[in-house]
Amino acid sequence: MSQQGYVAAPPYSQAQAGMGGYSAGFGNPPPQSHYGAYGSPPQGYSAPPTGVLKPPASSSSGMPPPPVSSQYGANIQQNGAHPHSFPPPVASAPSMSPYGQPPQSAFYSMAQAPPPTQQLTNQMSAMNIGGYGTLDVGVFYTHALSAAPQQYHTSPPPAMGHPPLSPPGQQLSSFGSPPPMATMGSVAAPPMGMSGPPGPGVHQPPLGPQGYPQQPGFFGRPQMAGPQSGAFPGGFPGGPAQMAGPPQKKLDPDSIPSTTHVIEDDQAKRGGQVYVTNIRGQVPPLVTTDFTVQDQGNASPRFMRCTTYSFPSTADLAKQCKVPLAAIIKPFATVPKNETPLYIVNHGETGPIRCNRCKAYMCPYMQFMDGGRRYQCGFCSCVNEVPVQYFQHLDHMGRRMDLYERPELSLGSYEFIATLDYCKNNKPPNPPAYIFMIDVSYNNIKSGLVKLICEELKTLLDRLPQEEGAETSPIKVGFVTYNKILHFYNVKSALAQPQMMVVSDVAEMFVPLLDGFLVNFQESRAVVNNLLDQIPDMFADTNESETVFAPVIQAGVEALKAAECSGKLFIFHSSIPTAEAPGKLKNRDDRKLVGTEKEKTLFQPLRGVYEQLTKDCVAQGCCVDLFLFPNQYVDIATVGDVPSHTGGSIYKYSNFQVEVNGQQFVSDLRRDVEKSIGFDAIMRVRTGTGFRATDFFGAVYMNNTTDVEMAAVDCDKAVTVEFKHDDTLSEESGAVMQCALLYTTIGGQRRLRIHNLSLNCSSQLSELYKSCETDALINFFAKSAYRAMLNQPLKTVREILVNQTAHMLACYRKHCASPSAASQLILPDAMKVFPVYMNSLLKTPTLVGSTELSTDDRAFHRLLVNAMGVEETQVLLYPRLIPLHTMDVSSDAIPAPVRCSEERLSESGIFLLENGLSMFLWLGQACPPDLIQNLFNVPSLGHLSSEGMSLPVLDNAHSRKIHSIISSISQQRATSMKLLIVKQKDRSEMLFRQHLVEDKGLHGGASYMDFLCYVHREIRQLLT
Ligand SMILES: [Zn+2]
Repeated sequence: MSQQGYVAAPPYSQAQAGMGGYSAGFGNPPPQSHYGAYGSPPQGYSAPPTGVLKPPASSSSGMPPPPVSSQYGANIQQNGAHPHSFPPPVASAPSMSPYGQPPQSAFYSMAQAPPPTQQLTNQMSAMNIGGYGTLDVGVFYTHALSAAPQQYHTSPPPAMGHPPLSPPGQQLSSFGSPPPMATMGSVAAPPMGMSGPPGPGVHQPPLGPQGYPQQPGFFGRPQMAGPQSGAFPGGFPGGPAQMAGPPQKKLDPDSIPSTTHVIEDDQAKRGGQVYVTNIRGQVPPLVTTDFTVQDQGNASPRFMRCTTYSFPSTADLAKQCKVPLAAIIKPFATVPKNETPLYIVNHGETGPIRCNRCKAYMCPYMQFMDGGRRYQCGFCSCVNEVPVQYFQHLDHMGRRMDLYERPELSLGSYEFIATLDYCKNNKPPNPPAYIFMIDVSYNNIKSGLVKLICEELKTLLDRLPQEEGAETSPIKVGFVTYNKILHFYNVKSALAQPQMMVVSDVAEMFVPLLDGFLVNFQESRAVVNNLLDQIPDMFADTNESETVFAPVIQAGVEALKAAECSGKLFIFHSSIPTAEAPGKLKNRDDRKLVGTEKEKTLFQPLRGVYEQLTKDCVAQGCCVDLFLFPNQYVDIATVGDVPSHTGGSIYKYSNFQVEVNGQQFVSDLRRDVEKSIGFDAIMRVRTGTGFRATDFFGAVYMNNTTDVEMAAVDCDKAVTVEFKHDDTLSEESGAVMQCALLYTTIGGQRRLRIHNLSLNCSSQLSELYKSCETDALINFFAKSAYRAMLNQPLKTVREILVNQTAHMLACYRKHCASPSAASQLILPDAMKVFPVYMNSLLKTPTLVGSTELSTDDRAFHRLLVNAMGVEETQVLLYPRLIPLHTMDVSSDAIPAPVRCSEERLSESGIFLLENGLSMFLWLGQACPPDLIQNLFNVPSLGHLSSEGMSLPVLDNAHSRKIHSIISSISQQRATSMKLLIVKQKDRSEMLFRQHLVEDKGLHGGASYMDFLCYVHREIRQLLT
């Protein structure tokens, strides 16, 4: 049986022999003392379990656990399409784990301290996860080595003293060839490598013109001062050629850690496998890896990812390493079809069982005792009475007999039905409403946008989200058009014609009609379609170019208030709101501020009206989605403020033309309207003793320090949560966290979505570094930097980022790596590509600070990143560059990406680049004419005009293949990307080149190589 098949079946389905999620050791004493590491060959599912199956129970094919019933009670429903029961997940055997994990008890690993051997194994597993799987100290070495990886880490971490030095004759990582000690000396000596003893002089970077001037105290050490060209303030000098003293040697770019290799290696090692979440502190596969998750007590990495899966045990250690401790939580993440949807638990009128003291919800980390009459909270250690109706006997292992019948006792993620206590005013909520608010000023009419929106809505309204199994959507819809004044429409089904009501007093916004404004589309279809037909004509002759904005949002909130429901406003807006009204804005795009102390003000939203609006929206559960169609500056920092605090999305289509951007906009709108979403949400992250959530980043609103309020939360929105110690953590109990999200479903049901995750704790920093996740780290750094820039000069923010990078790596070097020459750059294996991501972050339009960049673009980018999950920030900061000229048209696969550098382009090539927001097709000057013919139906590149090129769909293998690649990429992304075709050496090529993140930035910022050298030198400074 294939692994896919194995997982595609619900893990709790009882009727399938040999299937099921939990290893048979669940509860049995582990029959083996050896725990396989990830690196060990996976043991196939086909291997029949031997000798550890539980005694057969009710079903001949399933193997339920001890004496309990194998079905969930009537109080359990499944939140999804599979109407399966929830029988015990026991039929699997120890060897079933794809990673060769032994039948170790999930219960054991989560609820109790793992035995030393298990910890060791976990540690070793973690070690092996990183790319090359060889070095416990992550010594940085060349690819030549990866062909013959060495297993160094045969001893456990504290034994770091055993240097993982290369055997004689084995060159680990010479930086360039020949060994460039002397030539590299001018910058930082060989920044990496273990190739022999450092030559004379390498420890002392000579002064010279290749220094890092201008930044007293931080980027620039005084002794390194010197001229530099083309670098932004705080930047780095030019290309590699500048780095080496005479004689100049070109450094081998292949010798520095490669993101594409790390991604490929993880895919090769863990791709296509089942990731079982039964081990505390287990590091999941990379976000780029294709894997299947089976929940066995910890939330899927789709819902929660952490910067490290082993927290330092004390605040001092955390301070020492400066590695941020954070979780990136995507509570509504899309679950692939072959994974089990969340189960829904109903504890009846009494509501979910919670700890009396810390209010944590019942979960696998609660420890039952006293014959089942009491339980100890895994978060605050409070001992609670088990409510009578929830009582259950314990088995000889001290576990509840109904463990496998109850998702809340055995799974990482599940939902509870909330009682009226969890509803506003103790009343069940109404289903939410969607209000479409269309700017009908001159520009939008002229561009054809209004007509496009109205046409699209006619079909889109049939595709509003529905409850599972329902025929129609419970969501009501309403319509507003506006310019300087607002027009509301009565579309009650009884009317023959829609009725318009105008509100021209925008200072005191009110909703002129209640009955007939929000309607069920199915019932009012005729009137609504009639309205949508009329709107473009009604305003066809408009000359009005001024608009209001804040009153539009105000009108939406008031309408939802009147209807006593939550909902979403879809605002289609084009210009800076200059009409006389609350929230009126003026152009404050002053590029002279760029690079000054006041640059931050460009990104600070104007407060006042907008701040109050945000509060009103959040209180009402009113999410604001903003579709912008600007021809010039619209002050995105301000108009995007309400959306970015209400769980809303912002889309931008500059200089909108129906023919050019129409399709992209329509795709975005469709996806946005249809996507899975919860309303009026409030999230709380609880933690075990010793640490707590201290900061939150996302499209959220914080009224106090603990409650994360979101007017709505959809499948793309992620909240990044930072943790701090307030006491010593216990290595035995680890670090547990529980994210509880209270929200209203589209059907108007109040629910609690719970995600639990357990991490390890250690007094050894090496554990932390081994369990780091670079992609999660960079998500945290991006969001925290983008927030910091509102209050600090960008230069300071950039300096902090670089400083922290150097500090984290220096600490590793000092405390975890084996002794080695100072000339070597030593990176933790799990963080070896961290510098390339960090450097890319520093070069993002938002942080780079160039007067050439549009302020709105920078503000837009800032708000987007703020709501992103790990997957989105990963590809944004390291785009995929895919060679297409060598693709195999007979294969379904997307060709392997290459490194994001100009060096990887070839004149005779064609490349596709995507970062989740933009997509480019780059055509080399000498790309083969037959390929051009196949893709564009013209005989050569010269026949393609440089402007407005599009990619036709043609009937040949190459054309089909490339369209299939593009569509497959598009499906993976949250927003639709418009394909931009650029020819090598054309002016538009600049747009493409700014995404080659390993190169020197077009608007400033160092190349990857330079950055690495610079960081290396900083590390050496810190260590001396
Ligand atoms: Zn508690």
